[in-house]
Amino acid sequence: MSLRNPTRLTGKLAFKLTLWYAVIFTVSCFGALIVFYFATVSIIRHRTDLELLKDAKEFSSTYTTKGIGELKAAMLAEMESEGAGNMFIRLADRKGEDFTLPSGPDWRVSDLGKASINRLSAGETYYFETLAVPGRPYRFRVLTSGIAPEMIVQIGQSLEDDERLMEACREVLSVTLGLIAALAAVGGFLFARRALAGVEEVTKTANEISKGAFSRRVDVKGRGEEIDTLAETFNRMVGKIEILIRGMKEMTDNIAHDLKSPITRIRGIAEATLTGNNPLKDFDLVSGSIVEECDRLLVMINTMLDISEAEAGVANLAIELVDVAQVVREACDLFQPVAENNQVRIDQRLTRNGTIRGDKMKIQRAVSNLLDNALKYTPQGGTVTALVEGEPDRVILTVNDTGPGISDHDLPHVFDRFFRGDRSRSLPGTGLGLNLTLAIARAHGGDVKVNSISGQGSTFTMTLPRSPLPH
Ligand code: ADP
Repeated sequence: MSLRNPTRLTGKLAFKLTLWYAVIFTVSCFGALIVFYFATVSIIRHRTDLELLKDAKEFSSTYTTKGIGELKAAMLAEMESEGAGNMFIRLADRKGEDFTLPSGPDWRVSDLGKASINRLSAGETYYFETLAVPGRPYRFRVLTSGIAPEMIVQIGQSLEDDERLMEACREVLSVTLGLIAALAAVGGFLFARRALAGVEEVTKTANEISKGAFSRRVDVKGRGEEIDTLAETFNRMVGKIEILIRGMKEMTDNIAHDLKSPITRIRGIAEATLTGNNPLKDFDLVSGSIVEECDRLLVMINTMLDISEAEAGVANLAIELVDVAQVVREACDLFQPVAENNQVRIDQRLTRNGTIRGDKMKIQRAVSNLLDNALKYTPQGGTVTALVEGEPDRVILTVNDTGPGISDHDLPHVFDRFFRGDRSRSLPGTGLGLNLTLAIARAHGGDVKVNSISGQGSTFTMTLPRSPLPH
């Protein structure tokens, strides 16, 4: 994915999110409004039907109590009160043949309602239908109902008012729906912009980092949103890359600086031998020095490669069950002849609970570096103590010696690559041992700390978690 144009990515996504949001919101509102509309239509229709039934009931009682004359008068009064052309009322016998209008306008509805007469003949007490009446712009709601054993009434009520009301309702609803769609589009766009602002920032920062600004980090807002997790992970990743790049740079500087001296020395020895008028036997001596210097150089290069491998982290470890106490015991046994030679006593205090999951070869290397230093810097008659303690989640190795200690000036630098204390220069070493030990401990998720007072010995403490990987 190209990071050259970060806004294009989010621009497209923002558009899609806006569209989805607007469509879903508008369709949901449309559904709700449709339900509302049909519920209103049904309520209005029901109200009209109830009024028609009420009229039919009144006509029935007028006919029964006061006779046909009064009934016709009541029908006329009802039609007049509804307004001309809004209502028709007709009377018929049970066969439906003699439809008569009490009077009023010509409704031209002679064939109207025949089907409903048949329904009534079939036993129903009343029947509703919605019909178009010729010459009338609006439909009619028509009730056909028996009002006496021999008589049927048919009442037609114009739906003009209802349909006008529904037309107005439809207009209001379509305008509302338009507004909702516009609002959804604006709201969706704002939401999308807000949601993607974090992604845009991560992309912008990644873009700046790709141009070399490795110190740049994404601002974590701390709102606990997914974007914060992305920003934190991104920052962690960039932090790790920055450390690796710094390490690589340091390594290159170190190579340039520290490997130069032995190579210069080798060259100097060879050149002096060649230009000088030396007897043949001196060449053996010179060859010996050159081999020695070359070996030193090879040790340095190999240790530097081991450091790089350890610094790559847990991925490069060959994990197995390792008993740290056992590793320390074996190392002490291995160093025993050296200790005896230097008249230094090795004191071992080892727990039985020292098993961890780790890389045995690398742990052996770290343990030997610590013991090697302790023996190297401890004078005759001194003591080196190796202590292994087991805690629930980690194992601690402490190597203590009664040597000269480390000055306050040197103490902060002992883990630096190629650092060698002034007093150590006469002793063999590369200045890489502690740096490698620290890299190995860190690859296992542990650490190494030093405690020392000049003249009173040194204590190195290495902690190793029971497992370098989270379970
Ligand atoms: P090297 O021992 O090869 O010089 P290290 O990385 O092992 O390199 O140690 C770095 C420096 O730390 C040493 O040169 C020495 O000055 C100091 N140092 C390490 N261990 C001890 C110790 N046990 N006692 C005193 N000084 C120590």
